[in-house]
Amino acid sequence: MKVIVLGAGVIGTATAWYLLKAGHEVTVFDRQSGAGLETSYRNGGQISVSHAVPWANPHAPGMVMSWLSRPDSPLSFHFGFDQRLPWIARFLYECLPSRTLENIRQIINLATYSRQKLIELRLETGIDADFVDRGILHIYSSPRMFDRAAKEARLMQDFGVNRQIKNVAECLTIEPALKAFRNHIIGGTYTNDDFSGDAHKFTQSLASKCEQIGAQFQYKTNILKLIPEGNHIAGVLCSNETGKNETCIADAYVAALGSYTPILLKPLGIRLPIIPAGGYSASIPVRETHDAPITSLINDEFKLVFSRYPKTLRIAGMVDINGYGTVLDKDRCNTLLKRAQQMFPNGGDYEHAEFWKGLRPSEPGNTPSHLGFTNYTNLFNNSGHGTLGWTMACGSGQAIADLVSGKRPEPDFRFACGSASYTALKKRCQAKVA
Ligand SMILES: Cc1cc2nc3c(=O)[nH]c(=O)nc-3n(C[C@H](O)[C@H](O)[C@H](O)COP(=O)(O)OP(=O)(O)OC[C@H]3O[C@@H](n4cnc5c(N)ncnc54)[C@H](O)[C@@H]3O)c2cc1C
Repeated sequence: MKVIVLGAGVIGTATAWYLLKAGHEVTVFDRQSGAGLETSYRNGGQISVSHAVPWANPHAPGMVMSWLSRPDSPLSFHFGFDQRLPWIARFLYECLPSRTLENIRQIINLATYSRQKLIELRLETGIDADFVDRGILHIYSSPRMFDRAAKEARLMQDFGVNRQIKNVAECLTIEPALKAFRNHIIGGTYTNDDFSGDAHKFTQSLASKCEQIGAQFQYKTNILKLIPEGNHIAGVLCSNETGKNETCIADAYVAALGSYTPILLKPLGIRLPIIPAGGYSASIPVRETHDAPITSLINDEFKLVFSRYPKTLRIAGMVDINGYGTVLDKDRCNTLLKRAQQMFPNGGDYEHAEFWKGLRPSEPGNTPSHLGFTNYTNLFNNSGHGTLGWTMACGSGQAIADLVSGKRPEPDFRFACGSASYTALKKRCQAKVA
């Protein structure tokens, strides 16, 4: 089949790879000059199944209220009666204990599958995206948060995640560079199977591998609209590098435009509960004389993640629910640096930090709940991965390739079925496989 993938972020590129492997003819469109140049560019780098507790959880409303008055809050939110209201209402619903539990289960199932697919892909292709296979350590400063984390860790163990509770000495053995911050740590949790890597480097390398086996990547191409015809998509209207509009036709289309997918699908009557949640990262040069962490970390109190690349320490975090803007806010950048310096006083050359802001394609429950079929028979959605798009990229790509090929995806995940019921979807896939 001829398949057009819309978007060359980590999600679209991974989808292209698995579609090619399934024997399809693949073309990828993106407005940028290369792959992985928007949200997949400088994220936190973590492949973290252990980060499965969504923002929407029973503690979130209280926490959000306490943050609103703080100038250095991890959350920036401008009030207003706008289109975010249905999303916020849904977010509150997803904070119910039963919903949180279901979202954790969904996230773990897809993320665990995805982490395994990435490991296999690394072995198959030899892609080197500065992976650091040292697990992920979460550290805690407040007894209340640590107590909560211990409960979460036990819950995740029940779901098959090897997240272990650690005392302070064990945390320091895992990451000796935490010694300057020792007095602020009361414990941690450690997940040996998680790891980190550079999502941008991975996306670019994978795009090249895709091209080597026959995919076409058309960059500097603006996707303007999908053209419906009855209950299927007849083509996609694009504007190419020279500004010329052209309609491109395929048998199937995969929307992987991150935070921009809802804008493309809205005229088709498809309303996706995805909003852009801005986040920041700082990339700090590291030399041999510095004492930077080598293990990927999460400081739960600061809501920051740390990942190490050969010559760089990456710190990422913050949530701006303020629309599609990516202009850097100086105060937020300074907060990021201040926190990093507090934890690692000699962690790198902070004066030469490079800042970046990206837009997480965020659903209220932090699960890509509309992953799969849409109401159009040949249009598939692969967007809405929120804080875990790098973690879920390979699994989601494989799953969409399976659905396009008429196979049932492997993970126990509630894929969207478009107009069909889930049972009908399963039957449909099984029938095609048979
Ligand atoms: C600060 C921060 C830290 C993060 N840390 C982590 C982490 O540690 N681990 C993790 O798993 N995830 C993390 N994430 C989340 C992860 O980065 C995202 O979920 C993921 O990158 C989303 O990938 P995507 O391919 O869906 O979107 P994108 O990477 O944004 O790709 C979408 C593509 O579509 C293209 N596009 C959009 N509209 C159009 C159009 N009209 N025409 C043509 N092209 C278009 C864009 O150019 C872009 O290339 C983080 C995110 C942020 C912001």
